[in-house]
Amino acid sequence: KSLQEAARRFAQEQLPELAKELEAKCEPVPAEWLKRYADMGFLGINVGEQYGGLGLGNLEALLVVEEFAKISSAVAFPVFESCVGPVRAIELFAQDSLKDRVIPRVCAGEAVVAVSMSEPDAGSALTDLKTKAVIEGDKVILNGTKRWCSGGG
Ligand SMILES: Cc1cc2nc3c(=O)[nH]c(=O)nc-3n(C[C@H](O)[C@H](O)[C@H](O)COP(=O)(O)OP(=O)(O)OC[C@H]3O[C@@H](n4cnc5c(N)ncnc54)[C@H](O)[C@@H]3O)c2cc1C
Repeated sequence: KSLQEAARRFAQEQLPELAKELEAKCEPVPAEWLKRYADMGFLGINVGEQYGGLGLGNLEALLVVEEFAKISSAVAFPVFESCVGPVRAIELFAQDSLKDRVIPRVCAGEAVVAVSMSEPDAGSALTDLKTKAVIEGDKVILNGTKRWCSGGG
């Protein structure tokens, strides 16, 4: 309840102006604001403490996303992406070197991750994906077309 209250206060007092500006300019949350989110503990709420997260549950994470999203989805996006997106997939399934490289930077507000599943001919049906990654020596050659990569810019 106190986390929800802190998120609500922060969102309602600090974010309306930022949201208006981002929506008008079609821009993502700027770096200095990501830092403020991180300082308040709003990034990686359900991510392990060893990676700079709060180590809480999915419910706590979504309560914070909800408070931010009441202002606008633009200002909520980094919270969402740090708690329910590929960051969690990396935390649960990646090798340690990738976890150490990506997750602490996201929780510190220094990096934003993007996920590229959708393609021009594959939306809900991810079994239709055509992009291929082929390992050649010490390189991974990627060929294909992606779209809808939120945060990719
Ligand atoms: C704002 C926004 C951000 C996005 N960000 C990302 C992102 O960061 N990364 C990413 O990879 N993708 C992203 N997407 C893409 C999103 O995940 C796809 O739009 C979604 O998977 C749906 O694909 P589609 O639009 O091609 O619709 P389709 O898959 O073509 O579906 C069209 C319609 O058919 C229905 N339908 C589909 N399959 C079935 C089925 N088997 N049974 C019954 N009904 C079905 C759907 O519910 C829908 O109503 C984003 C989309 C939006 C709108």
